[in-house]
Amino acid sequence: MTPSALRQLPSVDRILNEPTVQALLPFYGHRLVVTAIRRTLDDIREEVRAGGEPPPPEAILARAAAYLQEHLAPTLKPVINATGVVIHTNLGRAPLSAAARAAMDGVARGYSNLEYDLAAGRRGHRTVHAERLLCELTGAEAALVVNNNAGAVLLALTVMARGKGVLISRGQLIEIGGGFRIPEVMAQSGARLVEVGTTNRTHRRDYEQALAQELDIALILYAHSSNFRIIGFTAEVSLPELVEIGQAHGIPVIADLGSGALLDTAAFGLTHEPTVQESVAAGAAVVCFSGDKLLGGPQAGIIVGRAEYVEPMKRHPLARALRADKLCLAALQATLMHYLREEATEQIPVWRMIATPVEELERRARRWRRALARAGIRAEVVDGWSTVGGGSLPGETLPTRLLALSLPNPDRIAAALRRHDPPVIARIEDDRLVLDPRTVLPEEESILLRALMNVLSDSRT
Ligand SMILES: *Cc1c(COP(=O)(O)O)cnc(C)c1O
Repeated sequence: MTPSALRQLPSVDRILNEPTVQALLPFYGHRLVVTAIRRTLDDIREEVRAGGEPPPPEAILARAAAYLQEHLAPTLKPVINATGVVIHTNLGRAPLSAAARAAMDGVARGYSNLEYDLAAGRRGHRTVHAERLLCELTGAEAALVVNNNAGAVLLALTVMARGKGVLISRGQLIEIGGGFRIPEVMAQSGARLVEVGTTNRTHRRDYEQALAQELDIALILYAHSSNFRIIGFTAEVSLPELVEIGQAHGIPVIADLGSGALLDTAAFGLTHEPTVQESVAAGAAVVCFSGDKLLGGPQAGIIVGRAEYVEPMKRHPLARALRADKLCLAALQATLMHYLREEATEQIPVWRMIATPVEELERRARRWRRALARAGIRAEVVDGWSTVGGGSLPGETLPTRLLALSLPNPDRIAAALRRHDPPVIARIEDDRLVLDPRTVLPEEESILLRALMNVLSDSRT
């Protein structure tokens, strides 16, 4: 022990008065800054007692600031998505439209009629809010919004099939990211999984045989194989055919669409993704889909379908546990209005990104290249591919133009971009760092370019 070395350490108050520490106060507040200084000094005392040298004052300040960053700074923050994956689950899926953000702000800043019937002056139901819009858009009789699509499927299965059998093709026993696996959701709901067919081929007769053999089948589940594709020797029974089979046996069909497009993806050069409207028209009793995938809205699980099935779901205790909050409902209503006003491809970010013509992407990539060239940074504009992502259109790509940088160590630069504030997420392709303008919002462009300039100039020094 070296008591004199310990005595040399500055006091909490002295550190607190340093201008660099004072600069942290507006963001972190007094209490957190003092906590960080105390814990840093505690650590240093330990090190000195163990025979270490007391660090100089600047190092102590730097360590306290680093402690704040690492342990006490809020962790969720905006990032710039330059990956070209439009619906990136790790990056928060769909960015919201200006109208959706304004609607959230509107109900966030004060009170709202979330569960208040303004005409009657008494208690109302939150379930009414997006319902009419969803019915108008999809042609369904009834609708219910819950927290996410995993919740929607769980609720639908629980209410319609608890204690009973559910038929599903072996080709549709899917797992999507984040732990959603059909067999496990089924088990949670209390329904009994009855697999039919094989992994690659399931036929009409497989369902019919199961229905002839199994007692107590409550429904047929059709799950969209959202993030993979089986190719080669395959066969699947279409939703209209499943509805036909179900009708012959008096049982309903639930369609878990995953992404749940309301627009025809084929209009944008992609494979046709089954739309919600088509699934409702095909006779699915209940259709479940996400709010933040191809719909382009907030995280939500949307259930549309026949009233005889949807109404009991609203009254189930699980619906209370899974209910959507007012911010979600506000953003969802505003997003749905874009479809009703037929302005989805201009106003909803994910559709605007999907619909951006390659000529426009080329112009943007060239503009980036010129801006970097002025800063002495060499980059190229090359052909590439964006993907839709988000449990839709597996393997499907959209032609794009990428800004490509040939660098000695692209991984290190990509890592430095991720540490930037705000973080920039790029891709490495053929040993080059590539950035796709498709998923970069126009207002983020100058920030992205500045990040690249900062990171590359740092790496040269
Ligand atoms: C994405 C997806 C889900 C889960 O939806 P969340 O909104 O993420 O809960 C369920 N089923 C399918 C087919 C999906 O693609």
